[in-house]
Amino acid sequence: MRFPLALTVKIARHILKHKLRRTPRFALVLQLEPLHTCNLSCTGCGRIREYSTSLKNLMPLADCLAAARECDAPMVSVCGGEPLLYPQIEELVAGLRAQRRIVYICTNGLLMRKKLKDYLAATYSPRQEPVLAQLLAGQLIADSDAAFIRQGNRNGRPVIAPSPWLYWNVHVDGLEYTHDLIVEREGVFKECVAAIRMAKLLGFQVATNTTVYRETDVREIEQMFQFFAALGVDGHTISPGYDYDAAKQDMIRRRGRRPEDFFLTRALTIEKFARIQEWSRRFNIFGTPVYQEFLAGQRALTCTAWAIPTRNIKGWKAPCYLITDAHYARYQEMLDQVDWSQYGVVNGVARDPRCENCMVHCGYDPSGALGVNYQRGDTWKNIRYNFGPRPKPNLAAPPVKAFNGVSIGKGHRAAAEAASGPNAAGAQSAAPDIPHPGESGGSRLAPPDVSPVPLRPAN
Ligand code: SF4
Ligand code: SF4
Repeated sequence: MRFPLALTVKIARHILKHKLRRTPRFALVLQLEPLHTCNLSCTGCGRIREYSTSLKNLMPLADCLAAARECDAPMVSVCGGEPLLYPQIEELVAGLRAQRRIVYICTNGLLMRKKLKDYLAATYSPRQEPVLAQLLAGQLIADSDAAFIRQGNRNGRPVIAPSPWLYWNVHVDGLEYTHDLIVEREGVFKECVAAIRMAKLLGFQVATNTTVYRETDVREIEQMFQFFAALGVDGHTISPGYDYDAAKQDMIRRRGRRPEDFFLTRALTIEKFARIQEWSRRFNIFGTPVYQEFLAGQRALTCTAWAIPTRNIKGWKAPCYLITDAHYARYQEMLDQVDWSQYGVVNGVARDPRCENCMVHCGYDPSGALGVNYQRGDTWKNIRYNFGPRPKPNLAAPPVKAFNGVSIGKGHRAAAEAASGPNAAGAQSAAPDIPHPGESGGSRLAPPDVSPVPLRPAN
């Protein structure tokens, strides 16, 4: 199965309960942002810009747990900012698990191995020596880490432990060169891969979380799926680039660029996602079959942003993850006071101009699960998707050359510096020999200083 059975049953029961009660609107996934601080500053990240005045502010733990209880979503995606910077992330995950919710920790991966070492230290016994030996042999921990783990750590705080109810959801937007370019720091891809390998070795469930931009070459995304599936990654979330109002304004102000040159239009999104159903047969793509049909341009859907609400330091963000017209103190207050008929695209007409090009999962994926715009056969498609076998990785395929950037001396920063120096022509030839974003027709992602702004969701 694509997901553990208990998770599928939990979500199905939640939907059935509300259908029987005829609840007009209810939450499926809570996007919880306990903080907006981050240890990266990806170009175009909407969150660290929209909430740039509150980067040091944290949601109290009690408020985080109360928000989950309040909207009662069966699944909570803990995002941010970088949620592993939240000082009580362990307590937050433990609290959400105590509420019997499915938890996704959406991370950029930089602190993940630290949390995995904390878990090992808290649970250490000599029986774990073979695991430590494997981690050392795989260069996933150092000798000093092994010594720290062997000391044990019984400080009484919870740790993040493997569970069928928990996923690490690691942000990766391409292979090494592309990903490091998008996050504007070399070495991040390599760290993500190490963290994913270590988490899999320790028995965690891991997903990847990818955003597709105008510049993205989908051939590279397929290679990326192939690479991570071979590492045993459990699934892949993929969504079109987010048309953040805040990031758009930032692009105009700081870069003097035209947003329409860089955002995905609906037509371009459909072009990029034309093969998503084929990907879904080969890889464990998270996203209902109906949403996949929508992304591939085969049907229309109505936005149900209220089903994936966002709660942050300022309250319940309305109407959705992307647009901020107001923050509300209560989820129900948001449901009651927002005029939902003013948002989304219906019959090809945008009710709000900001919705015009939006096809993001947080607006439309729940529409497929909830049977909005129901068509004959949708129920069977959902059953087959959820209860059918999980696609197996093709281990016979030629290995993907994922480390095509700084690992082989072709980091984008060195290339950019050299390109601006006296040996510019030589520097150009130092670019890696991989399919680049935009190679199939658009412009190629340029070095950081002159890069267009790739818009992405926060973790
Ligand atoms: S279509 Fe829905 S999710 Fe997209 S921007 Fe509009 S309200 Fe938000
Ligand atoms: S996109 Fe994620 S990792 Fe990048 S700056 Fe924003 S919150 Fe941090």
